[in-house]
Amino acid sequence: MAHKILVVEDEQPLNQQLREFLNNAGYETAGAADGGAAIDVFNQYQPDLVLLDVMLPVRTGTEVCRIIRETSGVPIIMLTALTEQEDVIAGLEAGADDYIKKPFEPNEFLARIKARLRPIQFSTDAGELKIGPLVIDVAGHEVRRDGERISLTPLEFSLLQTLAEKPKQVFSREMLLEKVWGYQYKADTRLVNVHVQRLRSKIEDDPEDPKIVVTERGVGYKAGHP
Ligand code: CA
Repeated sequence: MAHKILVVEDEQPLNQQLREFLNNAGYETAGAADGGAAIDVFNQYQPDLVLLDVMLPVRTGTEVCRIIRETSGVPIIMLTALTEQEDVIAGLEAGADDYIKKPFEPNEFLARIKARLRPIQFSTDAGELKIGPLVIDVAGHEVRRDGERISLTPLEFSLLQTLAEKPKQVFSREMLLEKVWGYQYKADTRLVNVHVQRLRSKIEDDPEDPKIVVTERGVGYKAGHP
């Protein structure tokens, strides 16, 4: 079955153009033209991925992102104009998985969407992994701390799993972009920084003094020792 993509964009010609482009690429689409309708259409349509413009009437893309993330780990890609680069970080902090700059380069645009819709890779001997006080049930796609489940998006889960699988290895941001995001080409390493911060806010006792996902200064990140 074709994946369903919700396009939230208030510029009607662009919304139409994006949907036609995606339909031609084999996706089903629905559209919304403001941040209020976006939530209604999201709930009815249950998309597999959301393309979300930053500047929208009624509610901003960042607010829409935050509302969707209260109930869903669906992949969200923000659409940003060159002048909205500060909003990129706000959108990522609100829970978006990635962003794409307007105007779009069609091949890169499709590659980013495909990467977010690919199934999360499981390790072959998927069982339980431990990282600090966390237990990661890889097959069940669950993270628990003291028996209590922590709600992570699929991307946050994949990031944590990647670090936990090789506890001695330091991962550079570029390695994580390749392994977790599935990007073979140069992407914005801020994606990794913001996702690590968001992950820490969910799993660490004190996100400012992290013990589970540790920074190796000048290199990247690794799993903290128990
Ligand atoms: Ca707009």
